Amino acid sequence: MMLGTMRLELRVLLAFISMTFQGLLLAGQEKQQPPRPRPEETELWSPVPNVVTPGSAYGAPPSDAIVLFNGENLDQWVSSTDKSPAKWIVADRVVTVSKSSGNIETKRKFRNYQLHIEWRVPTNVTGSGQARGNSGVFLAATGTQDGGYELQVLDSYNNPTYVNGMAGSIYKQAIPFVNAGRKPGEWQTYDVVWQAPTFNQDGGLKTPAYVTVLFNGVLVQNHFALKGETRYIGQPYYKVHGPAPIMLQAHGDPSPPISFRNIWVRDLD
Ligand code: MG
Repeated sequence: MMLGTMRLELRVLLAFISMTFQGLLLAGQEKQQPPRPRPEETELWSPVPNVVTPGSAYGAPPSDAIVLFNGENLDQWVSSTDKSPAKWIVADRVVTVSKSSGNIETKRKFRNYQLHIEWRVPTNVTGSGQARGNSGVFLAATGTQDGGYELQVLDSYNNPTYVNGMAGSIYKQAIPFVNAGRKPGEWQTYDVVWQAPTFNQDGGLKTPAYVTVLFNGVLVQNHFALKGETRYIGQPYYKVHGPAPIMLQAHGDPSPPISFRNIWVRDLD
């Protein structure tokens, strides 16, 4: 009787130990399983982007834009050569190139930015090739003449020329994807994202300049890495520079001058 009871108790004890062990094993296995992913784990709640009110229509400056020309005056601009007040002609809320006055540039200097600018070749334009409505937007001016990085402005409506020199090109470096140009007499737009080059302490290039351009709303340059400053003669190369003005070109060709309007920039630094 005693022996039978002891055996029974032993069996109960062994069963209890076995169950406990299995329980511990299960608990251990549960611990090793990764936690179930939750959607909240990949949600970011800061930093909260600033509120920017878009322009009321395409091309109108958004609330955080620096307006460089709104049709009234050239207070934001100077002559490139001597930094005196810009002498291009403001009339009818547009500014027209004064070729004899030379290039003009912004008083402000920029590194990385978004730019909107509108331009119009006059209906009475003359000439052909590079001598027909030539101007340019220097995305960073590095000299008083044509130093820097030129986004070409030209009448490219039925006006053949070298394709890395047509409207929408990065002059002699990048051919536009398409010719999105309008007829002389019609306003055209450039929307540009400019990322300035950076340089090492020793003067070597750290990162190239990158540019994205929409011409009349059509993508013509997509994050193009510039090979250096744009040059009329010879291969492009970089020179060390810091923040720089945006410059508009008074090209020396004899065709009637082009006009600009609605110029604004958003500083991305
Ligand atoms: Mg030009």
